[in-house]
Amino acid sequence: MSIESLFDPALEASQQPNWPDRSELERAVKELKSLPPLVFAGECDNLKEKIAQAADGKAFMLQGGDCAETFAAATADSIRNRIKTILQMAAVLQYGASLPVIKVGRMAGQFAKPRSNDLETRGEISLPAYRGDAVNDLEFSQAARRPNPARLVKVYHTSSATLNLVRAFTQGGFADLRLVHEWNKGFVKDSRIGTRYEAMANEIGRALDFMRSAGINPAEFKTVDFYSSHEALILEYEKALTRIDSRTGNAYDVSAHFLWIGDRTRQLDGAHIDFAKKIRNPIGVKLGPKTSPENALEVIKALNPNDEPGRLTFITRMGAANVRGALPGIIEAASKSGAKVLWVCDPMHGNTYEAPSGYKTRKFDDVLDEVRGFFEVHQELGTHPGGIHIELTGDDVTECVGGGEAISHEDLATRYESACDPRLNHTQSLELAFLVAEMLRDRS
Ligand code: PEP
Ligand code: MN
Repeated sequence: MSIESLFDPALEASQQPNWPDRSELERAVKELKSLPPLVFAGECDNLKEKIAQAADGKAFMLQGGDCAETFAAATADSIRNRIKTILQMAAVLQYGASLPVIKVGRMAGQFAKPRSNDLETRGEISLPAYRGDAVNDLEFSQAARRPNPARLVKVYHTSSATLNLVRAFTQGGFADLRLVHEWNKGFVKDSRIGTRYEAMANEIGRALDFMRSAGINPAEFKTVDFYSSHEALILEYEKALTRIDSRTGNAYDVSAHFLWIGDRTRQLDGAHIDFAKKIRNPIGVKLGPKTSPENALEVIKALNPNDEPGRLTFITRMGAANVRGALPGIIEAASKSGAKVLWVCDPMHGNTYEAPSGYKTRKFDDVLDEVRGFFEVHQELGTHPGGIHIELTGDDVTECVGGGEAISHEDLATRYESACDPRLNHTQSLELAFLVAEMLRDRS
C-alpha cells in the first residue's frame, strides 16, 4: 500500500500556510520522507492501551507543555524544566487519584499554530501571521514571516533532539519518584504558597517511607513512560512522516505518539479528519463550546467506527462559564451511544482574554473553575474525568494572572515569553496539580 494513496487529495485542508514556492515544499517533503521515524508504532499502541484504561476509569492522563514550542527554547534547561514540572504534577495527581498517570508532553513536535487571520497588521504594515516555528518566524518583518518549508525539516530535527533528551531523562534516573517527591517538598518549603499543600506532600512522603520500610523498591519507581504529542496541523509534514508499520501493515504517523485535531480544523469533510481516519495512532479531538451532541457523535463515527479501545480522546475546552452547560449533553450522547472515549479537560483555550496592556492572558481561577466544572459534570453523570491538558512551562514566566503568587495584569510585562498563548508557570502548574489532586481524592 502506498502512503499517498491513503489520503484524498481533493479534500480541503484548513489552516495551511501559503507556501510561496511549491518546489521548496517538495524538497522538504522528500527529505522528511527519507528520515527515520521519531517514534515506534508499538509505542503508540502501548499508549493506546493506557488510554483505554483511562477511558475505563483506571488511569488519568496529564498532557502538558508549550502552546507553541520554538527552536530557540529547545535547550537542555528549558526541556528539563518542562519535564520536571510535568513529573512533579503527575506524582501529585497520581497520589490524589490513586491511579496511574499517563504522562504526555505537548512536546517534541508542537511547532505549528492555527491562526484566526492569515495576516497580522501593525500600523500600516500587514504581513503573514506567525504560524509557529514550523512555518515562519515570530519577528515582524517581511523576510521572517515568509513561510519557509525548510523549517519543516528543522521541526523534525528539533523534535528528534528533544525526544532524545526526554527519553534520557525519563529512563535514566531523573524521573525517580523519590527524587520527584524531593522536588515537591522543595516547592512546598520554598514557595510562598507551598504551605497550603504541605499536608498532602507530607502524606505522599509517608506513603513512600512506608514502602521503603517494607523493602519495596520496584523498577516502576525509577523510570517512567513519557509520550510525545502535538496538533496534527501541517498535513504536508504529518503525511511525510506517516509510515507503514512493518509488524501490522497499518499506517502510523511516526512524528509523535499521540496526535490531536484542533477545534478549527476538525471539519468532518475536511482533510485533517480524513488524515486522522487513516492513521492508527491514538487520536485526540478538541471540542469547543459550540459542539453539539450530534456533532460529537459524528466525530466518534468518523474516527472510531469500530469502538477500538483507547483510539479516541475528546479534549473539551469549553471555558469556565460554559463547561457546566455545554459538556453534559455531549457526554450523555456519547455514553448513550455506548462509545468509549477518554474525556480530557483543556481548561486553557476557552479562558483566554486580552489584558488592558494588550497581552493575551488567562486567569488561574478560571482555569481551576473549568476543571472543577468538568469534575462536577462527570460526578453528576457517573462518568470518569479522565485527564487534563495544560499549556505550561517549567520557568517562572508571568503570562497567566492569579494563583498563589497573585500575578497581576501589571506583572505580565515582567517575563512574558510565550510565542503564542499564555502558559501556567512552574508554581501555577504545581498549584493546579495539588488542587486537581484534591478533586480526584474527593471523587466518590
Ligand atoms: C491549542 O491547543 O494550542 C489550540 C490551538 O487549541 P484549540 O484547537 O482547542 O483552539
Ligand atoms: Mn494554545
